Amino acid sequence: MKIISVASETVPLVKTGGLADVVGALPAALAPHGVAMRVLLPGYPAVIAAAREGEAVHRYAELFGGPAAIFACQAAGLELFVLDAPHLYDRPGGPYGPAGGGDWPDNWRRYAALGRAAADIGAGAAGSWRPDALHAHDWQAGMAPAYLRYAAPGQSVPSVMTVHNLAFQGQFAASIFPELALPDEAMSLDGVEYYGGVGFLKAGLQSAAAITTVSPTYAREIMTPAFGMGLDGLLRLRAADVHGILNGIDVAAWDPATDAELAATFAPATPKRREANRRAVVERFGITDTDGPLVCVISRLTWQKGVDLLAAEFDALIGAGLRIAVLGSGDAALQGALLAAAARHRGRAGVVIGYDEGLSHLMQGGCDAILIPSRFEPCGLTQLYGLRYGCVPLVARTGGLADTVVDANEAALGLGVATGIVFEPDSGAALVAAARRAAALFADRKAWAAMQKTGMRCDVSWERSALKYANLYRALVTKGN
Ligand code: ADP
Repeated sequence: MKIISVASETVPLVKTGGLADVVGALPAALAPHGVAMRVLLPGYPAVIAAAREGEAVHRYAELFGGPAAIFACQAAGLELFVLDAPHLYDRPGGPYGPAGGGDWPDNWRRYAALGRAAADIGAGAAGSWRPDALHAHDWQAGMAPAYLRYAAPGQSVPSVMTVHNLAFQGQFAASIFPELALPDEAMSLDGVEYYGGVGFLKAGLQSAAAITTVSPTYAREIMTPAFGMGLDGLLRLRAADVHGILNGIDVAAWDPATDAELAATFAPATPKRREANRRAVVERFGITDTDGPLVCVISRLTWQKGVDLLAAEFDALIGAGLRIAVLGSGDAALQGALLAAAARHRGRAGVVIGYDEGLSHLMQGGCDAILIPSRFEPCGLTQLYGLRYGCVPLVARTGGLADTVVDANEAALGLGVATGIVFEPDSGAALVAAARRAAALFADRKAWAAMQKTGMRCDVSWERSALKYANLYRALVTKGN
């Protein structure tokens, strides 16, 4: 079975978040299940540079304002299609906006073009490589199912729309509609129309044969007004087609037994070897008082991630005995608040502002715990890395965090199945109470080591979830035939 996967980012070529990890890991995870997946990406400079040797399989004289071509190529171990459209993608800065922040004003055109090209591949534009189904990720790929649906009603290949984060919806003014080259009937409640404008994610959710999101709990949450962000009504209507399939992680790229970013590699049987990594982390973050649990935060610094709660409760968390190392970037006010907090607790806390993949590995391999106080979390990957690296997750009970961490309550501790600490989201008091529980458990070294070991033995690979995707594709393809 052949699947075209469409996304705006993938590791290792372009990454701004967990979406890229998932898109990059799926092809290898699905191969053992008889699925040949190719990924269609926009031709950003970094992608073009990696895919130079490709061959053009389809050319457009004009695609949203300029000539374009789809290249088939291999890069970084992935089979790719690259949409080479210099007028849309050949520019410095990030994938979605200039280096200083903000969005490119023509993002609607850039990602409508991606959707159009994906639908064309779905309809056979890539020659002999004709997919059986299309898999679209997030709003940037949301127009792909819509183009498929309106281009060849009833005859196109089936599509799956995956929501990695419902907060990002790709909503644009109604005035762009004529340029999308869709039939008039598409500008309707049943089509791409969204609150008087055009919604790219909404278009995908409405048009795809199946909808998935990245954890079972988030799948339930997004059908409620509190988490649905305006789309819960649509999702409730389509409830029978909504599936929660938990993300896995790339267990080869994230393997503490071989990880080159670590000062010392280790395995579940040799957790003491983590000590060298812990020393490297405290040195890097200027932490000299190293008695309490060394807790890291590796995150976009945003409201979603509960970083404002972290900043507000920082003094109380240090007071509870935590030593805190933060790696992240994002909201300028939150960056400032964290830097100020760390300055108040010199020797007990440190903050590195920036994005540093290598340092994130070292922190997972050396810290005692990872704190994730998110208000909502579709899946979350950092708690999965934490489990695998013996970095005990302290997480808010929401979305995928609730699905992947077993709270160290008395029953779980007694049974030896606890893997972390789970607390009420959106509450400073609950966060501080969780910190106190963590510090108390950490003081009982045997209990902590047992929890660490149980976490390290969890299956956080793609194995079970890849089978679920493969079964879903198969069911859709069979139904379509
Ligand atoms: P989201 O996609 O919402 O940002 P996830 O937990 O799903 O959250 O994925 C975040 C990914 O980005 C993880 O791979 C995490 O390690 C990585 N990451 C986040 N911030 C940083 C940072 N400052 N430096 C290095 N890696 C980071």
